[in-house]
Amino acid sequence: MFKFLKKWRQQRIISSSTISPENWENAFGLLPLLDHLSADEKNSLRDLAILLLHEKSFLGAHDLVVSEEMMLLIALQACLPILHLGIDWYSEWTTIIVYPAGFAPERTVVDEFGLAHTTRSELSGEAWQRGPVILSWKHTENAGIKDGHNVVIHEFVHKLDMLNGAANGFPPMHKDIRATSWSEIFTAAFADFQRNPKPGLDRYGATAPAEFLAVMSEVFFEKPDLLNNAYPEVYTALSLFFRQDPIH
Ligand SMILES: [Zn+2]
Repeated sequence: MFKFLKKWRQQRIISSSTISPENWENAFGLLPLLDHLSADEKNSLRDLAILLLHEKSFLGAHDLVVSEEMMLLIALQACLPILHLGIDWYSEWTTIIVYPAGFAPERTVVDEFGLAHTTRSELSGEAWQRGPVILSWKHTENAGIKDGHNVVIHEFVHKLDMLNGAANGFPPMHKDIRATSWSEIFTAAFADFQRNPKPGLDRYGATAPAEFLAVMSEVFFEKPDLLNNAYPEVYTALSLFFRQDPIH
């Protein structure tokens, strides 16, 4: 009964959306990343994006006005990883902050000698556990062009990874994926990637298991053949996890 009510409520949100079909068409047109989806999948993705827009608030930082077009572009790409998982995978947080360009938060890090340093390095995106997703619009506006990089997918995959604790490259598993095989596949591929950089795969993925998952997910959706050639087992594991197979 609860499930039925939830579906009914979601259906009401979707059917009362005021975003015009032309504006959706325009947003899909700007995202070659989504070209391979079937008509049914595009409809489901749009419905998920409507739910995401309903559930999350967008905040523009540094006086940035977040337009409807910007929101649609972000929401459609954010919902691609959950296309066959559902909107509940993005629960427990509420805000998407958009900066005009890269942002440089001040951080205090403690080094190996116990000394605290303040660092400022420019970021294109960030995801906080139970907190906001932060995106730089400069890095987001062309994210969907299928060049193998996608800051929106990257940050939202961190959000999936954080559903069962701090981001560690090990998101909650479906019943048909063995946790041990996921762990073996990703540990081996991560270790190999640290030693042997692969052309087209961002070296940033070698910095931590969580970054490896996020970077490989970007490539999974943007250049699936490249990932399948470099790490076929990672491709298959991601395909089981996302319940999508962008190559076929
Ligand atoms: Zn990251």
